[in-house]
Amino acid sequence: MKNEKTPIPYKIYLEESEMPKQWYNVRADMVNKPAPLLNPATGEPMTAEELGAVFCEELVKQELNNDDRYIDIPQEIADFYKMYRPSPLVRAYCLEEKLQTPAHIYYKFEGNNTSGSHKLNSAIAQAYYAKKQGLKGVTTETGAGQWGTALSMACSYLELACDVYMVKVSYEQKPFRREVMRTYGANVTPSPSMTTEVGKRILAEHPGTTGSLGCAISEAVESATSREGYRYVLGSVLNQVLLHQSIIGEETKTALEKYNIEADMIIGCAGGGSNLGGLISPFAGAKLRGEKDYQIIAVEPKSCPSLTRGKYAYDFCDTGKVCPLAKMYTLGSGFIPSPNHAGGLRYHGMSSTVSQLYEDGVLEARAVEQTEVFQAAIDFARVEGILPAPESSHAIKVAVDEALKCKETGEEKNIIFGLTGTGYFDMYAYQAFNDGKMTDYIPTDEELEASFATLPQIG
Ligand SMILES: *Cc1c(COP(=O)(O)O)cnc(C)c1O
Repeated sequence: MKNEKTPIPYKIYLEESEMPKQWYNVRADMVNKPAPLLNPATGEPMTAEELGAVFCEELVKQELNNDDRYIDIPQEIADFYKMYRPSPLVRAYCLEEKLQTPAHIYYKFEGNNTSGSHKLNSAIAQAYYAKKQGLKGVTTETGAGQWGTALSMACSYLELACDVYMVKVSYEQKPFRREVMRTYGANVTPSPSMTTEVGKRILAEHPGTTGSLGCAISEAVESATSREGYRYVLGSVLNQVLLHQSIIGEETKTALEKYNIEADMIIGCAGGGSNLGGLISPFAGAKLRGEKDYQIIAVEPKSCPSLTRGKYAYDFCDTGKVCPLAKMYTLGSGFIPSPNHAGGLRYHGMSSTVSQLYEDGVLEARAVEQTEVFQAAIDFARVEGILPAPESSHAIKVAVDEALKCKETGEEKNIIFGLTGTGYFDMYAYQAFNDGKMTDYIPTDEELEASFATLPQIG
């Protein structure tokens, strides 16, 4: 419910001294912990040593840490955060006015940095731990390009080599994203490529393929594990990434407390689950501890509906099946969203932490169609000014739906949503929408069944 004793500014910023000094680890408050990663060869939980062959040491510790509620943010990372954080919590007065809703809408805007999204919050942390370990460089994959851009920025800041495998179709369709990465010194290779064994194998099996995130992950992992002084890093899905992204939720919580605002509803878009997990972590924690109740909503595309139509099962994280198995809501590792899907959030699985929270009813999920998402994006841009990323616009769509429900019931709910980034590199998608050429494709049950049939038989 609202509390309006203090007038609420358009933008709530925190003072530097109010910025979080620790990340919050929601796993510490979960009774049912997220299921461990499994070694695909043995079916046993991955040990720290096995994970250490792929990931940086300190990040492995964070990945396996289900106990410590808070983890200190190293000073170097805190200093980097200061360049673009705190991010503002914006009261969407203009949107409320346009909708004529009694609801109060707030969005946490993560697009105020060159990478244009929240991904920098984890990129700098991962690059920092790689540097501290004395590594030469890191490898990764990128789909739409935001993660690759964020990692390039973090690596150039720390003088670390950065090799990015970019899904071929994006490499060709988003030349400017590619150039931003190269400007920050990254090596960008279109995937699948002939530079790795798994890339050669995929190209032999599927000549002419335009690639997928799952393929690019396999190539990046091979490229890291086959070279001395390199490790692989990932921009979403993993527990460690959610941990770093908890900075979003902690800042949000502090900003709300500063103005005595009680959130009723928290909404985030969900691809691999990192921004959502980060935004909701402190709120989900309060809910898990029985201190407060919030309605928490994950929003996903109907064309890639892992939470709303997927299975909760162990699955491969990548197409080449070189990664550990993760238990998650998944559509099957062979699932590739229809080519007309332009809105991002195209990963076949969902973070194990978010999956477990969903399984336990801490959060709910909704799936929306991309044409309605782009309509919401444009409505939002015209009143609030910011041109949103298509991914973020999934959250906008549901926030607007909820605000319109409040209009009918007269409820003055406080609706908080995550505006994860800007959409300047998504203008082909906006063009398709503006030209009336955007369509929706919702996979049939038969298509999903065919994909589920490829799930590994575990437990
Ligand atoms: C990557 C990305 C997402 C989705 O990733 P999550 O890990 O689910 O947060 C959402 N919005 C933007 C702008 C992104 O770049």
